[in-house]
Amino acid sequence: MIPVTTFAGKSVAVFGLGGSGIATARALVAGGAIVAAWDDGDAGRAAAEKAGIPLVDLTAADWTTFAALVLAPGVPLTHPEPHWTVHKAIAAKIEIIGDIELFCRERNAHCPDAPFIAITGTNGKSTTTSLIAHILRNAGMDVQMGGNIGVPILALEPPAGASGSTPERQNKADRIYVIEMSSFQIDLTPSLNPTVGVLLNITPDHIDRHGTVENYAAVKERLVTRSTQRVVGGDPARAMGLVARVFQFNPTGTVRPARQVYQFKHPKHWEYQYEAGQVKRGQPPKVIADFSDVATLRGIHNAENAAAAFAACSAIGLDDVTIAQHIRTYPGLAHRLEEIGRIGNVLLINDSKATNADSTEKALLSFPDDVYWILGGKPKEGGIEPLVPLFSRVAKAYLIGAATEEFAQTLEGHVPYARCGVLDIAVAKAVADAKKSGTPNPVVLLSPACASYDQFKSFEHRGDAFRALVSALPGFTPRGKA
Ligand code: ADP
Repeated sequence: MIPVTTFAGKSVAVFGLGGSGIATARALVAGGAIVAAWDDGDAGRAAAEKAGIPLVDLTAADWTTFAALVLAPGVPLTHPEPHWTVHKAIAAKIEIIGDIELFCRERNAHCPDAPFIAITGTNGKSTTTSLIAHILRNAGMDVQMGGNIGVPILALEPPAGASGSTPERQNKADRIYVIEMSSFQIDLTPSLNPTVGVLLNITPDHIDRHGTVENYAAVKERLVTRSTQRVVGGDPARAMGLVARVFQFNPTGTVRPARQVYQFKHPKHWEYQYEAGQVKRGQPPKVIADFSDVATLRGIHNAENAAAAFAACSAIGLDDVTIAQHIRTYPGLAHRLEEIGRIGNVLLINDSKATNADSTEKALLSFPDDVYWILGGKPKEGGIEPLVPLFSRVAKAYLIGAATEEFAQTLEGHVPYARCGVLDIAVAKAVADAKKSGTPNPVVLLSPACASYDQFKSFEHRGDAFRALVSALPGFTPRGKA
């Protein structure tokens, strides 16, 4: 845990008692703050009580006694409308911040040189965050990974040199933080100042919570404009625009301007290019490494994630050879184009995290042909219409769940399909057809383009079911055992 000492002796309201709220309350208490924790739901309050966190009914509390409101990132700050705690905090003229803000203040106060890599973007955050952590760990560094992935930031080990760390670690800034951040978390972190900021991409998302796409983009961009070194991916035009704005934002140079900007928009190769201080238009990219055979990083979207991770580790001071070596051993994340194994020459891929057409597009783009595609579930608006241009890659589609009839209509006339109802039947049919195909590289791909809730508890539950079903089939060989 990272004790939060910057509010010692002060009263702090903590609202939203999920995993990060409980970790926040604990860290504040450990650092000497007086915590008043609350949640609208019984479950959150019960969890806090169990954890020994002091509950105070914030609907009835005197807000002028609080120094700050620490809000969970899931609670609306501005849209669709501010939560009632936000109105109360504004009326009492107290600041509204999040747990990563508390971390930043702690780092600034006790260990400002602790290396801190923050990663955001609409897509690819978890892949890139876990890849960076993997590279740095394997290079022998002391890595703490968390934030929007896995462990809440204040439940991580404290910065070396901060209070709470062991005496032999005092004043040594060798513990590195690799932190995934959502737009909601950035919004609640005014002191955000990472050593390296990574902005992967921005596509319209979470408009309900940010009002407009411009607001959403501005929040995301804040992560890089406030970082010492910047890695900007995705659309090169945006990357260029960002760099220009960064220089305008910082005409005096009091914050170091972008030292390295990486650009990676090359559909055929795993490449990136960078120039110290500026991006040069139209320069041929320099090929640093080729990871096209790495099974855990299939597809051009993962090329972008790998390039961003490469750039971030390079900015921290690792050499190209070391970075490339460790990218090759990345174990990957479950449910994201996860290679489960093979049956004969049939490749089995679990992409259960693909809950919309955008994500499934990335999956279909990763396999040129012979895809035996399992899809369906609770459909999203627009269905699979955007995927029609990729249907030529699909040998046959296997439909499950509530989306069956809608998706059948879109597939009609383009791709043969079977109504399977449930995953068990879809897996059995898809594997049997793929085995019979006689083609060199058939792929059975679960990439549902749908939410899972009609038949499963979560996308993880759905992906685990797929893994269990294919692993039980005769002739199954797990990944890496062929
Ligand atoms: P996040 O943490 O941002 O949700 P993940 O790494 O968990 O991202 O990937 C989720 C999905 O987003 C993947 O299954 C893939 O479909 C898509 N994706 C991953 N990386 C990218 C990228 N760089 N650009 C576009 N889409 C991506």
